[in-house]
Amino acid sequence: MALQDMDKLVSLCKRRGFIFPSSEIYGGLASTWDYGPLGVELKRNIRDAWWRATVQERDDMVGLDAAILMHPQVWEASGHLAGFADPMVDCKACKQRWRADALKEGRCPACGGEVTAPRNFNLMLKTHLGPVEDSAAVVYLRPETAQGIFVNFANVLSATRRKLPFGIAQIGKAFRNEITPGNFIFRTREFEQMEIEYFVKPGTEDEHFDRWVQARFDWYVNLGIRPENLRRRPHGPDELAHYARACSDIEYRFPMGWSELEGIANRGDFDLRQHAQSSGKELTYFDEETKEHIVPSVIEPSAGVDRSLLAFLADAYTEETVRGEPRVVLRLHPALAPIKVAVLPLSRNERLLPLAQEAHALLRPHFMTQGDDTQSIGRRYRRQDEAGTPLCVTIDFESLEDRAVTIRERDSMAQMRVPLAALAATLRAKLAGEPCDEAHLPEGGKWLGARG
Ligand code: ATP
Repeated sequence: MALQDMDKLVSLCKRRGFIFPSSEIYGGLASTWDYGPLGVELKRNIRDAWWRATVQERDDMVGLDAAILMHPQVWEASGHLAGFADPMVDCKACKQRWRADALKEGRCPACGGEVTAPRNFNLMLKTHLGPVEDSAAVVYLRPETAQGIFVNFANVLSATRRKLPFGIAQIGKAFRNEITPGNFIFRTREFEQMEIEYFVKPGTEDEHFDRWVQARFDWYVNLGIRPENLRRRPHGPDELAHYARACSDIEYRFPMGWSELEGIANRGDFDLRQHAQSSGKELTYFDEETKEHIVPSVIEPSAGVDRSLLAFLADAYTEETVRGEPRVVLRLHPALAPIKVAVLPLSRNERLLPLAQEAHALLRPHFMTQGDDTQSIGRRYRRQDEAGTPLCVTIDFESLEDRAVTIRERDSMAQMRVPLAALAATLRAKLAGEPCDEAHLPEGGKWLGARG
């Protein structure tokens, strides 16, 4: 997907109700976005898929949901208060502001002009707790979810009696006063993270690090991202944070070029030691084998919900020509698709209504569905293609006679006729990956071929 295609994506997101500019009726708020009816489903499905892969399907992980507001000392101990700043430069000629690390040969990337010396900006959003706005009440909106995990390490350990290695997963909002937000939802000031802190015995970091990089790479591929649009980028020694022993980004080929999708870091024991020292509490693990209290090392896979949503959308976006007509289709993985099944009566004819309602009521408990009886059936198919809906069910006049309906598959546009009694099971099988072809018809089903 090229840079100009980002505009097409932004416009599709607005048109179909994935993402709207925030506070749009007031002119919008810079780089802030609201998720609409389809966007909220897609986002939820991404979170669910992540939780499933990182918590539900593993026996070494538990979850957490810590508060966004935390004790101010957390940010002193973590180093955010002192160090959470991007050195920035201003171009003296065109006045644009840049991250110092984005400069080309020390000059402005836009006009080549001379730039100021780098200055630091604190990226944490500040607010006051309680009615009195004095300095004692200053708190910060968390700039990452990770610290909520570290400060709960001892609580989780004593509540769950976990043995190393084990991890804690958390999904939640984070806030950064980014100096250069942009590229749609790629970099915003309010965003959502999916983070894991995986605690391991010192000395075993490297093997766990490699395993997590692979597991996280595979997660994107299993959810439909084309492997050629993903790559690993190990950080060079000059890029590493002072406490990090290794870091590898998973990058996606976004419309604006290869950029970080997720970072996986080997953070050693830096965070637990910092919080132990700052709080005066012991944050250790008792090793039964050696009878010693140890400070575990930690591997941190840190992903963005919004950023992966952008990658999933960009990767799914396809333009094609079908019998001379353009078709835009979002080839989203069925697990991510906001609507799984659309229920479409052929027309608004009232004779079709009761059966359409019956079919819809039958499916609603099993899948996220949507009914649509406006405009021609061809237009409604195209609309569902743009929404990424994998399957449509059409009720026509023949259905009134034979109590069978048509299933139409998004990607191949293949159609098959199936008895209403077999509908839910057939849809479930197709959504789980069973091919939509002649060899996979339910009993009493009829193959209709590709129709458009
Ligand atoms: P970048 O270099 O792009 O600013 P980072 O290295 O600061 O990112 P991390 O602190 O490693 O990012 O955050 C982990 C993940 O959180 C990122 O890979 C990204 O998916 C997401 N993320 C971080 N900052 C933002 C943001 N401003 N907007 C949207 N997502 C973000």
